[in-house]
Amino acid sequence: MTGLDNSSVIVTGGGSGIGRAAALRFAAERANVVVADLDGDRAAAVVEEITAAGGAAAAVVGDLSEQAVVDRVVATAVEAFGGVDVLVNNAGIMDGMTATADVTDEEWERVLRVNLTAPFLLARAVVPHMLAKGRGAIVNTASEAGLRGSAAGTAYTVSKHGVVGLTKSLAIMYRTAGIRTNAIAPGATTTAIASPLDRTGHGPKTLMPYMANLGRVSGADEQAAVIVFLASDAASNLNGVVLPVDNGWSAV
Ligand code: NAD
Repeated sequence: MTGLDNSSVIVTGGGSGIGRAAALRFAAERANVVVADLDGDRAAAVVEEITAAGGAAAAVVGDLSEQAVVDRVVATAVEAFGGVDVLVNNAGIMDGMTATADVTDEEWERVLRVNLTAPFLLARAVVPHMLAKGRGAIVNTASEAGLRGSAAGTAYTVSKHGVVGLTKSLAIMYRTAGIRTNAIAPGATTTAIASPLDRTGHGPKTLMPYMANLGRVSGADEQAAVIVFLASDAASNLNGVVLPVDNGWSAV
């Protein structure tokens, strides 16, 4: 019914939080999962959890902002599981809620590289495989910060607005080729993600009042459920959608 049975699924950031929960849900739908993560121990633990339950999974460890690592991820999906049916671009890092004048070159380059360039590199690498099959689904993890200016610092906000743009461009460019691209925009979610936050800075002090409206904090699995839905045949006519999963925060 979902079209995910025996499919080949890449989940980036699959070792922790939303990505881990998504990897486990895809495996429960009998998909074969490539768990790509910077953290080898976490990735191995998720692969172990999936295989112990009778599923199929493989870990690829490395920094996804590097082309060589992206190539390794895609080669693993092709060689181990016969292609790429689903890409979940989920790995990401927070910024320090830093306002523009205080953003260092280092913070800007790193956040943009991991949160935006890596999803682009992965999409560019998987599209030819999806075109070859005439079908595919890409799900990007954007953020509330991809919808508004008050949910994070400059670098993170720009990166997640970029992810929304990437989502829409992919959706339009490949809609006649059978590839659907959608995104979730999570609100606050309980995971291991952390902000190197200096509360005395201009950015954090400015943003704090806006955080009062964020509502109930989500569990990682509540985000994962929507990722799997968007990747599945149940969402067959959804393309270019950025779906807030945020207890109504974006409606405030
Ligand atoms: P998390 O820290 O629990 O998981 C992120 C995973 O990505 C980690 O396992 C980490 O090792 C991996 N990762 C980070 N940089 C990487 C890199 N360069 N290469 C490979 N792997 C890398 O955090 P999470 O909250 O589950 O984050 C998942 C996504 O959700 C991110 O894109 C994040 O921006 C987004 N998001 C999270 C929240 C939230 O409140 N948790 C809200 C909105 C959006």
